[in-house]
Amino acid sequence: MTSTHQQRVVIAIDGPAGAGKSTIAKRLAQRLGFTYIDTGAMYRVVALWGLRQNVAMTDMHRMEQLAIAADIDLAPGRISLNGEDVTEAIRTPEASSGASQVAVIPGVRRAMVAKQREIGQHTNVVMEGRDIGTVVFPDANVKIYLDDDPGERARRRAEEMRAKGENPDLRALAAQMRERDQRDSTRADSPLAQAPDAIYLDSTGLSLDEVEEAILKIVRNRITNGKDFS
Ligand code: C5P
Repeated sequence: MTSTHQQRVVIAIDGPAGAGKSTIAKRLAQRLGFTYIDTGAMYRVVALWGLRQNVAMTDMHRMEQLAIAADIDLAPGRISLNGEDVTEAIRTPEASSGASQVAVIPGVRRAMVAKQREIGQHTNVVMEGRDIGTVVFPDANVKIYLDDDPGERARRRAEEMRAKGENPDLRALAAQMRERDQRDSTRADSPLAQAPDAIYLDSTGLSLDEVEEAILKIVRNRITNGKDFS
C-alpha cells in the first residue's frame, strides 16, 4: 500500500499450535511489505524470564510484573528481552509450555495486548497468535483462522525442529501440543477461538504456496477491490 492517507491495515491470523501461522504470516508480510508480528514469541519471552528468575508460571502477581517490565524488541527475524537476543532460547519445550501457562494470567495478557496494539496502531501488520481477531484487533481488515489436521501440525513442528538439528519425539511433541491447545482454548481470558467474522482456512493437504495464494486472494478482495498490492 503506498497511500499515506489510508488507514493502516491489519491482517490477523489466529489458530492452534503448529498450524503454519508463522510461516504463512511471514511470507504474507514480506509479499505485502507489512510488518510481521509473532505474538506467541512475546508470551514465550515472558515465560523465559520467569523461568530464569525461578518464578512459578502460576504466580499471577510476579508474572504480571515481569510482563509489564519486559523490554521486548521484535526486530525482523530476531526477538530480544531487555537487550539480549533470545530468539533461540524461547523455542525450548519449557518455554512453549511456560508460555501457555503465563498466557492464562489476565495481567500478563493485558500487558502483551497493550504492546501489540501499540505496534499495530500506525503500521501495516500481519499479526499472528490466538486472540488477534477476537481481542487485540477486533477491527482487523482481514481475519483468518488457520487450522490443520492435528497429526499434520505435530509433523510440521517436528520438521521445523529437525531443520534446527534437534531430534524430537513425535508422540511426545503431539501430546505437548494437545495439552497447550487444550489450555489455550479453555482459559477464561481471551481463549483461542475463531472470531465470528474470521475466514476459516483448513490447510490440510495444501502447499504453502496454495495457502498463501488463498489468503492473498481474500486480502485483495477485502482491501484493494481485487487489485494487487504494490
Ligand atoms: O504461537 P506460539 O505457539 O509460539 O505461542 C506460544 C503460546 O503463547 C501459546 O500456546 C499460547 O498459550 C500463547 N499465546 C496466546 N495469545 C497469543 C499468542 C500466543 O495466548 N496471541
